[in-house]
Amino acid sequence: MKLTLQGTGGADGIPGLFGDSRVSEYARQHGGRDVRTRAAALVNEDLKIDFGPDTFAQVNATGSCPRDWSAVVFTHSDADHFAIEELQYAVVPFTAEDQCPFTIYANGTIIRRLRERYPDWPMDMVTTQSFTSFSHADYVVTPIKANHGSPTEDTQNLLIEQNGRTLLYATDTGIWDERTWRYLQGITVNLLVIECSEGFVHTPYNGHLDAHECLAVVSRLRQMGTLTASSQVVTTHHSHNGDATHEELAKWFEPHRILVGYDGLVLEV
Ligand SMILES: [Zn+2]
Repeated sequence: MKLTLQGTGGADGIPGLFGDSRVSEYARQHGGRDVRTRAAALVNEDLKIDFGPDTFAQVNATGSCPRDWSAVVFTHSDADHFAIEELQYAVVPFTAEDQCPFTIYANGTIIRRLRERYPDWPMDMVTTQSFTSFSHADYVVTPIKANHGSPTEDTQNLLIEQNGRTLLYATDTGIWDERTWRYLQGITVNLLVIECSEGFVHTPYNGHLDAHECLAVVSRLRQMGTLTASSQVVTTHHSHNGDATHEELAKWFEPHRILVGYDGLVLEV
């Protein structure tokens, strides 16, 4: 399996769209790995994870084509992951009805909003639920419950298996509830992509991880055996308010065998 990190930024990206933080200014001056579009990923060429406001720029930057997607799988409905208006370009009058036949997999909150906005949506929509696996082509996807966002929404991280290999895409996680930890017991994850939104700044908000919390989650997964010695761990969903440049974070995480992700990074699972 191949995973492309198309975007690795938090809600307003880096530099923050209107942000004047140190990290935003650094990114404006230096570019490169310090510029982060909103978090999104692509498995192989056909399984799209999240569809945020930077999708147009991301597919062109990474040389991928939305016409190759057979599925779009959403994690949750926050605006940096779910750009509902951009989806109109997949259907009439922008394309013929049968030209882009991808299935949308998403929680009930997203599916409700899609049905309201697009009552005549011509492609399949499937409602997903945490801890209930579904198959798509030769993938098995199991959403697991994230600790993020509204308590009424089934916000999800995604376990994705293909050919005996498993990745866990865990953007917008917070510290999981015990049910999620229990579910991960006994599962081997070959690649973990995990958020580190808050960087070096600890906040009282529980729905995101700072660097220390991110490391604590990874350490617990290693102790459980969910992550093995050969498992890769890569960060994503970084906020400029975390007061950490790519290089500063990379130095901090390096002794812990955690790679700091960046836009365009391609990983083999
Ligand atoms: Zn987000």
